[in-house]
Amino acid sequence: MAESPTILKVRDLRVSYHTYAGEVKAVRGVSFDVERGRAIAIVGESGCGKSVTAKAIMGLIKGPQGEIKQGSEILYNGENILDYTSKQWQAYRGDDCAIIFQDALAALNPTMRVGKQIMENLIAHRHMSKDEAKAEAIEMLRRVGIPEPEKRFKQYPHQFSGGMRQRVMIAIAFACDPDLLICDEPTTALDVTIQSQILDIIKDLQREHDTSVIMITHDLGVVANIAQTIAVMYSGVIVERGTSEDIFYRARHPYTWALIESVPRLDLKNKQELASIPGMPPDLLNPPAGCPFSTRCKYCMAICKEKMPAFTDFGNGHTAACWLHHPMAPKVDMPDHDSPTTVAPAAEAASAATDGAPTEKEVSR
Ligand code: SF4
Repeated sequence: MAESPTILKVRDLRVSYHTYAGEVKAVRGVSFDVERGRAIAIVGESGCGKSVTAKAIMGLIKGPQGEIKQGSEILYNGENILDYTSKQWQAYRGDDCAIIFQDALAALNPTMRVGKQIMENLIAHRHMSKDEAKAEAIEMLRRVGIPEPEKRFKQYPHQFSGGMRQRVMIAIAFACDPDLLICDEPTTALDVTIQSQILDIIKDLQREHDTSVIMITHDLGVVANIAQTIAVMYSGVIVERGTSEDIFYRARHPYTWALIESVPRLDLKNKQELASIPGMPPDLLNPPAGCPFSTRCKYCMAICKEKMPAFTDFGNGHTAACWLHHPMAPKVDMPDHDSPTTVAPAAEAASAATDGAPTEKEVSR
């Protein structure tokens, strides 16, 4: 039977944390697909639920505080991994899926030489002999750009700089030859030059190994050259998704516009004023009934505070959840992110007009 082009399907994922203050609804109905051999980026501010989503895919949501709600599905090659036994989880985490964390120092074993940490994965998951694993581990250190790999092989994590440790993490992750790799803010703690080198290494290895990648980041600038698809998350929900081109040049959600305006552009040199988004995200102990961005959005209308907008489909998988695309909403000028356009009530916007659609009064500011 032909392999499905989709390796992972996340459907209506809902994750809560139970705290003394009450139930924090960290992820509230997230759905997306990861295509085989391609990269999707999940982008949003700190606390938007992107890392919790990654943890759920890695089976790292632990009770009693963490809870994945009934009805959530994470389908890996068609199987709901949320039904896995602990033995299946162990095999999945080693052979199928790997993760690179932001804090490599915390993720590496401080008492074990880095070479041995890579070798362990090669022996366990690629069934190599010790000699084969040693030769391959040295080759992997060379491949991720670590100079003098034979010497570095014998050193401990504290003897490496932050960027070098992240390269070791990449070597460990690819040593398993995973089908799916999650990169959770892999470059956040690094300076800009090192960031770009690390992203290039991930991109090259992804192509060589035909790995599917989920790139989690707060920085839209990081994903421009690596991800074919982008999902923008805010306050536990995805508010817009589309191809990288759609998100960078034809974004349809005010939160995405704000994110784009906060990314420095080389072509504008010193002429660009970097925007920050005033206000705070809503408290996820009591998430708002309507659009989660309504407290910070300059286009907010009466309906926005009352009802969550449905997704409007702009074609080619590009969707955004915003009342501005309702046929009765006022037209607004979209920010100029290259080719200025106006948000027009597109024909597809009819899909936003679900049951309980707003009145003309509700959609006027
Ligand atoms: Fe702004 Fe309303 Fe759109 Fe939310 S639904 S982003 S508040 S215009």
